[in-house]
Amino acid sequence: MAVREVVLLGNPALRERSEEFKSFGEELNTVVKDLRDTLIHLQEKKEIGRALAAPQIGCQRRVIYCNLPEEEIVMVNPEIIWRSQEKFQVWDSCFSFDIAFFVRVSRHRSIKVKYWSESGEENIRTFDDDLSELFQHEIDHLEGILATDLLTDNKNIIMREEWEKRHK
Ligand SMILES: [Zn+2]
Repeated sequence: MAVREVVLLGNPALRERSEEFKSFGEELNTVVKDLRDTLIHLQEKKEIGRALAAPQIGCQRRVIYCNLPEEEIVMVNPEIIWRSQEKFQVWDSCFSFDIAFFVRVSRHRSIKVKYWSESGEENIRTFDDDLSELFQHEIDHLEGILATDLLTDNKNIIMREEWEKRHK
């Protein structure tokens, strides 16, 4: 088990563009295993969160690991190939913000993503609403983009405690 340290907001490594995987094998499997171990650890500790991108554990490679109650999704070299015109507002946070605060950002209501599985199968899948928002957030990490970059009004930032008062 390898729980890795999460790279936090302010660290320039989060701003780099991550590199594609050219092959499927041991290197990819190790990153996915570390993402899985780290995310499960964080979910238990923070009682929140659904996914991690490799740059968040200090690995500048294009892979995302998502652990939902109903399924686990690994996306290798994901690419958004379609975005709905319709957008919606969502409160978003990040393990790289230590889930200390939330920002309200605008995201596409639906997206279509092309990606490869850990074993190299190509997938094309459409995601709506909260999963659309989630994968836009995670794929942004691979470009060095953070949710705070999407803030258009500095009133749209609140501490986790305030967010919980509104959402629980
Ligand atoms: Zn994030």
